[in-house]
Amino acid sequence: MPCYRCGARQTDPVRGASPWRRGVRRETQVLVCPDCQRLHDLDLDTCAGCGSAALIRRLGEVECRACGAVRIAQADGPVASCSPPGLSAEVAAALDRVLGRT
Ligand SMILES: [Zn+2]
Ligand SMILES: [Zn+2]
Repeated sequence: MPCYRCGARQTDPVRGASPWRRGVRRETQVLVCPDCQRLHDLDLDTCAGCGSAALIRRLGEVECRACGAVRIAQADGPVASCSPPGLSAEVAAALDRVLGRT
């Protein structure tokens, strides 16, 4: 995953932890390269409890690594629905055919 801000590609750290920072921006997990971390307008989501930007996006949730707070993610892409749009109309039409109402 490249840096969300400048598009730089992450290089494997020679040793130890990666200098890249993970965060959440507009409900999406992002990576921030070391250069962009120096900027102050990163526009990352922050924890409502402690204000930390050390958030992790998980399936349907956002967890704060600083205080451990977990909240439900607000936008999780298209909402999965049990039936695709239009199916109920098709089912109704098929029922009408079966019942001889058309
Ligand atoms: Zn960057
Ligand atoms: Zn927090």
